[in-house]
Amino acid sequence: MSDVLATIRDKVHAGKRLSFDEGVFLDTSVDLHTLGELANVVRERKNGNVTYFNVNEHLNPTNVCVYRCTFCAFRADLKSEKGYVMSDEQIVARGREAWDRGCTELHIVGGLHHQLPYEWYLNVIRVLHDKFPDLHLKAWTAVEWDWFARMTGRSTKELLAEMQVAGLGSLPGGGAEIFHTDIRSQICEHKADGDEWIRVHREAHELGLRSNATMLYGHIEKAEHRIDHMIRLRELQDRTGGFQTFIPLAFHPENTRLSHIPKASGMMDLRVMAVSRLMLDNFPHIKAYWVMLGIQTAQVAQSYGADDIDGTVVHEKIYHEAGSDSPQEMTVDEIRRLIVEAGREPIERDTLYHEVVRETGKKWKQGRKMLALA
Ligand code: SF4
Repeated sequence: MSDVLATIRDKVHAGKRLSFDEGVFLDTSVDLHTLGELANVVRERKNGNVTYFNVNEHLNPTNVCVYRCTFCAFRADLKSEKGYVMSDEQIVARGREAWDRGCTELHIVGGLHHQLPYEWYLNVIRVLHDKFPDLHLKAWTAVEWDWFARMTGRSTKELLAEMQVAGLGSLPGGGAEIFHTDIRSQICEHKADGDEWIRVHREAHELGLRSNATMLYGHIEKAEHRIDHMIRLRELQDRTGGFQTFIPLAFHPENTRLSHIPKASGMMDLRVMAVSRLMLDNFPHIKAYWVMLGIQTAQVAQSYGADDIDGTVVHEKIYHEAGSDSPQEMTVDEIRRLIVEAGREPIERDTLYHEVVRETGKKWKQGRKMLALA
C-alpha cells in the first residue's frame, strides 16, 4: 500500500478530514474496491445499516428556458412546439395526485421562462400550499432563485423569505453542475455561477431552510474540478450546517449538445459516490438517485457510500429527456425490496429526514427525527 493511501486510511478510520490533494489521489489513483471499503466505513459510522427513501412526485411547471446549458435535454425555446406552461388547474391536479398517493413531498423545478414574472413562480407555491398544507414543497434551484432576483431587482434573501411564508419547505440541490469557472464557462456560461449558487444556499440556511447539493459529473470535468466542487460545499456546510444530502448526478448525453461524450460508466458512478462520501465528512447523507444511475447501480452504491436512494418520483422529465432508461416511477414495495436485496434496512423518511410512520386507514404521520449518527 502506498504511503499516501496508508495516511488516508488512518484518517478515515480516525474521522479526520481529507485534503484537496488526498481527494484527487482517491479519485484518480485508488482502486474501486478500496474506495468502496473506505466509503463504507464513513457511511456506516453516520447512518448504520439504514437506507432512506421517500414517497414523492416531481413537478416541472414549465420547460421553457432562457438559458441553453449544453448538457440540458429538458429545455425548450419560447416558440418551440415542445414548450409548455402548466395552468393552475394542472398544478393543483398534480398536487392532488401526489397527496392522494400518500406523498410527503413535491419536488418542483423547471425552466426560466422568458415572459413569466416572478409572481407566477410564487403562485405555484401559494396554490399548492393552500390546497395541501402538509405536502412538503421542495422548490426552485439556486439558478432559479438567481433568475427571480435578476427579474425583480430584489435580493434573493428577500425572495426566499417571501416564498417561505407562502409555503416553501426547502431547496433542491440542482443547478450546481460544476462550480469551477473553467468548466462552468463551457457548459452553462450565462446562468448563476458557483459563488452565486453557494450564496443562495447560505441565505436559505440562514433563514432556517434546509437544502440539498448536487454535482453533475461525467462530461468535460476532471477529478480536480470534482474535488474543488466538494470542498466548496464542505466549507459552506462548516458555516451553516444546512445541507442534508449530496447527490452526485451522472451526465446523460442523449439529446444534448454534448451527445458526442459517452455516458459515465457504472465504475465511474461508484467511484464518484465513494469519493463524495469520503470528502463530504460534514454531510449527513449521500444519495444514489436511482433515476440517474439506474436501479442496479443505485443498489450497489449502498455499499459505496450512499445511504439514500430518493423516492417513488413519478413524472420525471429532466433525465428521461436526456436518455435515462430507468422507469418513470417505483412503488414503495419495489424500493423496499431493492434496499433489502442490497443488504440494508429500508426506512421511509420525509424531506427533513424524520421517519414516516404509516398506519392502516390513515395518511401518514411524522415519527422520530432520523439523525445521522456522527
Ligand atoms: S439546465 Fe436548467 S437553466 Fe440550463 S437550460 Fe436546462 S432548464 Fe435551463
